[in-house]
Amino acid sequence: MTFKELGLKEEILRAVEELGYENAMPIQEKSIPFMMNETKDLIALAQTGTGKTAGFGLPILNLLKDVRQTQALVLAPTRELCIQIANDLKGYSKYMKGVKVVPVYGGENIITQLRQLDTPAQILVATPGRLIDLIERRKVDLSGIDYLVLDEADEMLNMGFLDDITTILEKTPETRRTMLFSATMPAGITNISRKYMKDREEISIGKKNTGNENVEHIYYLVQARDRYLTLKRVVDMNPDIYGIVFCRTRQETKDIAEKLMKDGYSADALHGDLSQAQRDSVMQKFRIKNIQVLVATDVAARGLDVDSLTHVINYNLPDDTESYTHRSGRTGRANKKGVSVSIIHSKERGKIREIERIINRKFEQQQIPNGIDVCKKQLFYLIERMENVEVNNEQLDPMFPELLQKLESMDKEEIIKRFVSLEFNRFLDYYKNAPDLNIHERDSRRDGDFKVGGTRGGFSKLRLKINLGEKESFSPSRLLGMLNDATGDKSINVSGIEVTSKFTFFDVSAEDADRVMTAFNDLGGEARVDVAKGGRGNGGGRDGGYRGGNSGGGGYRGNSSGGGGGYRGRSESSSNGGGGDKPWRKDRNSGGGGGDYKRKEGSSGGDGARRKRY
Ligand code: AMP
Repeated sequence: MTFKELGLKEEILRAVEELGYENAMPIQEKSIPFMMNETKDLIALAQTGTGKTAGFGLPILNLLKDVRQTQALVLAPTRELCIQIANDLKGYSKYMKGVKVVPVYGGENIITQLRQLDTPAQILVATPGRLIDLIERRKVDLSGIDYLVLDEADEMLNMGFLDDITTILEKTPETRRTMLFSATMPAGITNISRKYMKDREEISIGKKNTGNENVEHIYYLVQARDRYLTLKRVVDMNPDIYGIVFCRTRQETKDIAEKLMKDGYSADALHGDLSQAQRDSVMQKFRIKNIQVLVATDVAARGLDVDSLTHVINYNLPDDTESYTHRSGRTGRANKKGVSVSIIHSKERGKIREIERIINRKFEQQQIPNGIDVCKKQLFYLIERMENVEVNNEQLDPMFPELLQKLESMDKEEIIKRFVSLEFNRFLDYYKNAPDLNIHERDSRRDGDFKVGGTRGGFSKLRLKINLGEKESFSPSRLLGMLNDATGDKSINVSGIEVTSKFTFFDVSAEDADRVMTAFNDLGGEARVDVAKGGRGNGGGRDGGYRGGNSGGGGYRGNSSGGGGGYRGRSESSSNGGGGDKPWRKDRNSGGGGGDYKRKEGSSGGDGARRKRY
């Protein structure tokens, strides 16, 4: 349906046409006539990217009265969304006379914003906290509000704005019409709508909590310690990737972004420890595609609105399905296709089933591409770039005869091979010995080798390292106490505790490892827990010798030329413990005893002999 058919004013039609909108999007087809012809309130289940800003913005602009008073209020969760909505509304009202749209949001000098409100804005776009501030300063008058929009209502509740929203709702006239937009419909939203939206109609774009049809949901099943290498494979397999990698904690976000950057990827981190200016700068770099891969926490990514993401990668699955809906809804927007990738371990399969049930979409388990697949993909990408490159004949022609002469001795095939090798050798090298990262039946059999007794026996173990040792009077009982505090789970089985002067090593089941690391690292203090070099736990000593690895470099760091490394000028070293894509598999039966980490910590700390085992 065209916008003209929807009965919008000429000035609005002109602006919309200039923006290149040809037909109304489904939500607009529903919301525009509804707002213009009915009197009820509206609840719209819709994600960002569905065209909801125009869905509420166009009818409100069409309905504005010709008076200088604040007639519409749009509440949004973040400053970035406020700015974006205000800019969209300014665009739509470009040809309307005397329409003023002002965004007000926290984190910005209030004086500047106050100045903009010297004359009232017909449309105010605000974050709830800042609006309360302005109300208290008597700088805004909400008594003439005809239209109130709650945008991304579920996000506002997630961010703790419930009290602010109810305060604001109570300051607006009961005669107002309210429009509530939300990607999901948790109980909090239903409560608000029951209390504050009287005669209401619900529309939805797709079903409730439904995943966007344009998004393909896939997952890879990996061992916890292979997450990072899997991430690199995914990125390498998609040379044109433009995506967000979601992590659970700030620390993990920083770590993964740092590793990617160190490995030569076009990546950066977005998290709450950055100042507003730093966040703005990262977001801007990402928006203009100076960065291909943004590693972010859910909270920090909220303010970022980009329509053309090719991938969303769940480095870890989020704790709740709502967050998954939000994450995956960031791709597949504006009628483009997108992929939501989840890197999971076997215990998380149940979570996938749960998400499938709620979003009513099927996930596809895919095999992690092997080295050959990745190399092929990169090679063809290179060829494609070569085919499409613009050739500057004018500058090249004068040099060409000499160039041809120089290449005379080689035939076409050889020239192609050499040029490809020039660009590609390092990449081929990186992937030469790249192992299979997929979990197969034989892996579960292999896990049998690491069975330990006790209630949680049967799981493979991972050796972790905390940066506290004898120097801090650290002890096994303190470790267990901290673990209980951090995770609140007394059933986590810990074995093989070794306290050295600076560090303490311990084994937990691979299934618990992520949770333990995240819980400790979220404590916020100095304590940091990482996977120990050598990775695999030794099952409480029964499989001693395993970590010994080969007699040379030992364990995990291995001898491959840096599996999973990158292309595009990436550094030779992988940051995953030196980059070996699990050469330990080959080494596990060779003797040795004393893992790689032992030598390392022992030699650097000089405390090898003082190591205590518990
Ligand atoms: P939103 O969900 O409001 O963030 O909109 C998503 C994207 O779709 C934005 O880039 C809008 O500019 C764009 N958009 C909104 N309505 C239309 C339309 N009718 N036709 C084409 N693009 C649109």
